[in-house]
Amino acid sequence: MEFQKINEKINYFNQDLTDDFFEIYTKSSLLAVDTEAMGLVHGRDRLCLIQICNEDNITSCIRIEKGQTTSKNIRKLFENTEITKIFHFARFDIAALKCNLGINTQNIFCTKIASKLARTYTNKHGLKDLLNELLGVEIDKSSQCSDWGKTETYSEDQLSYAANDVKFLIPAMRELHIILKREGRYNLAKQCFATIHVHSELDIQKFVHIFEH
Ligand code: MN
Repeated sequence: MEFQKINEKINYFNQDLTDDFFEIYTKSSLLAVDTEAMGLVHGRDRLCLIQICNEDNITSCIRIEKGQTTSKNIRKLFENTEITKIFHFARFDIAALKCNLGINTQNIFCTKIASKLARTYTNKHGLKDLLNELLGVEIDKSSQCSDWGKTETYSEDQLSYAANDVKFLIPAMRELHIILKREGRYNLAKQCFATIHVHSELDIQKFVHIFEH
């Protein structure tokens, strides 16, 4: 299996999408989303980058500045109930978007939750394993632990790795949808997706395992 490097153009923005790109994305019905932050602790580790990709493979990276608290076009896009936003482990990204930019993301599909409900024959639900099995692609996760807060420009490689995390989410969602429908678990998946914002809010407020005994 070869590492597939993105050669297509990645659009890059500071702080928000421009209005012309907002117009393009707002006509999409599917939008793959990923974010990169300084770390995993909400409130401490700021959001640094938002990556998006629509069904026409139009891929963009939006850098979030230190201290930035709003992103008008991103907010309109993510709060639009007509567009399905696809994440891998949505719980983290939803919380990061909410606590950094005040965005209440609507209409969520999480490929990690979907994978756990659909692929009960494995316990490998990380993005790398999921894409490898469903689509036969090999992605490089080496940029996961890198300094996304740096002020100098990101390297082409860094943006390429970041974009890889959204590039295959829509095809993965389609494959998972087929399995969930076939196994009669699609409704349960939708019910799970509807609770993700609750888990994100609990994470933000530092409540841990409150559903456990
Ligand atoms: Mn990522």
